[in-house]
Amino acid sequence: MKTPFLPDDKNFHWKSGELFCEGVPLSAIAQKFGTPVYVYSYNSLKEAFLAYKDALRPYPHLMCYAMKANSNIAIINLLSKLGAGFDIVSGGELHRVIAAKADPHKVIFSGVGKTEEEIKFALESEIKCFNIESEPEVDRIVKVAQELDVIAPVSVRVNPNVDAKTHPYISTGLKQNKFGIAYQDAVKIYKKISEHPELKIIGIDCHIGSQITDIAPFLDSCDRLLDIVEELKKLGIELHHIDFGGGLGIRYQEDETVHHASELVEALHKKLQERELGYLEMIFEAGRSIVGNSGALITEVQFVKYGEEKNFCIVDTAMNDMIRPTLYHAWMQIVPLKLAPERKEEIFDIVGPICETGDFLGKDRELSPEQGDLLAILSAGAYGMTMSSHYNTRIKPPEILVNGSEFFVIREREKIEKLYSSEVLLNFD
Ligand SMILES: *Cc1c(COP(=O)(O)O)cnc(C)c1O
Repeated sequence: MKTPFLPDDKNFHWKSGELFCEGVPLSAIAQKFGTPVYVYSYNSLKEAFLAYKDALRPYPHLMCYAMKANSNIAIINLLSKLGAGFDIVSGGELHRVIAAKADPHKVIFSGVGKTEEEIKFALESEIKCFNIESEPEVDRIVKVAQELDVIAPVSVRVNPNVDAKTHPYISTGLKQNKFGIAYQDAVKIYKKISEHPELKIIGIDCHIGSQITDIAPFLDSCDRLLDIVEELKKLGIELHHIDFGGGLGIRYQEDETVHHASELVEALHKKLQERELGYLEMIFEAGRSIVGNSGALITEVQFVKYGEEKNFCIVDTAMNDMIRPTLYHAWMQIVPLKLAPERKEEIFDIVGPICETGDFLGKDRELSPEQGDLLAILSAGAYGMTMSSHYNTRIKPPEILVNGSEFFVIREREKIEKLYSSEVLLNFD
């Protein structure tokens, strides 16, 4: 039996056939807190963040963590201490930034449907920038800024119409997508914005998709944005920053190759220099590439079921805790916490207890599970907990953060009563 692949094989590793996160055997965490449980490696996310930060150090920059990937306030707080700003997509996320004692001045606000209430809250919190995604949004921000008698800093999210060659659900930079302002309308909207004294133009932005494993789409969209920057310059509109969005892919499978953050930073900065725009502040909105490989979802095998056509390994986590496999057909590495080379491997689907055929974590995996075994679903740090639900009235797992040989509860296991505590009984006779 080959030792299974670990996407972050530095902070997750095998020791005498047991899976460790940093200095802690994952089975110890499962034993103490029960299953399912999310476990994150602090040093993994720190290293991933610093990979960007170190590459950007020579240049004016702001690393904005896209917190929808994983918005636990402990993680927000720790990243802010490392110098992170934040890319938010809702007023709720801004509340989290504040609850995490992070700096709202380093927040940029993306999203196609910002409400008046959200805009007001963001202006009162003095965020760094709104990424405007449509013409009516300009009018809405003007209205709220007028009411508050403040000036709103804005950037335009341009849809560069480049193919990020990723899953259609996480591709956002094509003209058929709902995001951003069409490339050919960008200059027109900048002109419109420049006529409003309530708005201050500070940047340009794009975000072409997620889990992008090639650097070329980033460079193509950079070229398109820089064409706009130069055109604006001619019109006397000077920008302060260029925001390349997020989307850098991570390794989920052994045969995938991905790019290091520094390659992306260097290649993009070269593009800026070629056009004598190296003074522009570089912003990234990275989510997955910061936290993705730093997390594991630990689950216990409930039953092993042999069928006529398929074998099922039924576990105590499900699509409500981790929806990526069923939503995006994402492939996530699943390994036992204890290697059992003496056992014979067979092909299994790893499925949860939810009443949906789509409730699977992995399909056709070679495993040798027995009832009571513990498994780890790896690369679960991004778009795991934040996309979880209570479907089937299932409580959400706790979250534990490991740092060296210590571990900390950063979210407690929910109480079942909480799931229906805001519901009401009616008194009909
Ligand atoms: C989701 C999102 C990101 C982060 O994408 P990742 O693939 O997680 O890096 C960045 N910017 C915007 C606007 C987003 O919606």
